Amino acid sequence: MVRRDADSIPIAVVGGSAAGLFTAWLLRRGGRRVRVYERAERLEPACRTLIVTARMREILGAAGESCVVNAIRRFEVWSDGRSAQFSLHQPDLIIERATLIESLAERARAAGAEIRFGRRFLRLSAGGSPPGLEFDRQEDGERETAAASVVVGADGALSEVARSVGWPRPETVPLLQALVRLPADYPIDTVRVWFVPEDTPYFYWLIPEGNGRGALGLIGEAGERTRRSLEKFLDRRGFEPLEFQGARIPVYRGWVPVHRRVGATDVYLVGDAASQVKVTTVGGIVTGLRGARAVAQAILDSDGAGELRSLRRELNLHLWVRRTLHQFTQTDYCRLLDLLNPAARRSLETHGRDDAARVLLRVCQSQPRLLWMGLRALLTNRSFPSAPASE
Ligand SMILES: Cc1cc2nc3c(=O)[nH]c(=O)nc-3n(C[C@H](O)[C@H](O)[C@H](O)COP(=O)(O)OP(=O)(O)OC[C@H]3O[C@@H](n4cnc5c(N)ncnc54)[C@H](O)[C@@H]3O)c2cc1C
Repeated sequence: MVRRDADSIPIAVVGGSAAGLFTAWLLRRGGRRVRVYERAERLEPACRTLIVTARMREILGAAGESCVVNAIRRFEVWSDGRSAQFSLHQPDLIIERATLIESLAERARAAGAEIRFGRRFLRLSAGGSPPGLEFDRQEDGERETAAASVVVGADGALSEVARSVGWPRPETVPLLQALVRLPADYPIDTVRVWFVPEDTPYFYWLIPEGNGRGALGLIGEAGERTRRSLEKFLDRRGFEPLEFQGARIPVYRGWVPVHRRVGATDVYLVGDAASQVKVTTVGGIVTGLRGARAVAQAILDSDGAGELRSLRRELNLHLWVRRTLHQFTQTDYCRLLDLLNPAARRSLETHGRDDAARVLLRVCQSQPRLLWMGLRALLTNRSFPSAPASE
């Protein structure tokens, strides 16, 4: 009886982007009433060129197809004039984020989820039963309240749902990329990566969209410095920026438990709101979708624990690698490229990036000196992240 009452009140998903819309669709497919509350006044997601692993297709099925604009079969990695190349047995995908979100919104709506735009979530008031969500309605600035049986916070790195329920704020780093025209001879199936620790402890990348353009960007630690570094890098290589895309991304520093209870209400976090981002590359699409799937399973009373455990293991492994790489100097990166013997390279090519544990194990088996190099870096004292991320 209590359950039927709860079921007549919709589940509230706050945030209508990749993680939120995917959660909404899964919940609707599982027979639950779902209402998505999105701050933006209409479905006009910002364009971003992103690279994801092939796992996105496996998770999303047909809804993941329309956003694919290119396939990547080769990586070229550079450090101070040295380079190493790898072919990928399973290509990575270049996707357009806006198309992905539009397609997820269409699927969620078609399944019967309601999407309310122009609703900025303010707080959860625990007083009522069930507790109320309070929104700022963008069209007239009025307050709006709504009841919800379950709340899912999918409202990104600066999640108000997380703040309102008492989850600690994650650190964030700026991610900035420029769309550029590619030289005519640029191989369209190849991503270039440059390690320049003087500019960033992460890296620069150039990912081709397949239409003569590409996204050249970097992850930084402080906003203004990141922009200056990107502009200098573009200038040195003769690229003219056509447009910039950027936002702050949460830094995964350890597993964020995704569930809390407020009175009788279950509150969950998914995607960037739960820092479900691989901290090696700051990729959050596939991991956020996996987090969404696990939370939807938990709400639908099937077992989401296995998926969450495996996601946690993967994110922790990336954290370990990041802690190591964060200590690397330019000389270390050059040495790393020199140490990649054909067997280590084959391991990188064969085992997709989705199975990070196996890739690491095989690469270290092929070239044990890499393990020593990693351990030595881990034992140095530089903290991670090494600069304040609050600019
Ligand atoms: C320039 C750039 C390049 C990137 N490149 C890659 C890449 O190559 N590969 C990859 O995997 N990842 C990449 N990422 C990261 C990836 O885009 C994010 O991890 C992912 O989009 C997060 O999705 P999300 O649905 O969790 O959150 P978001 O996409 O941040 O969505 C949050 C949603 O919540 C809404 N919202 C926020 N606050 C409120 C509120 N108070 N009330 C209601 N609604 C609210 C927002 O409007 C938004 O629609 C990149 C990020 C950037 C910025």
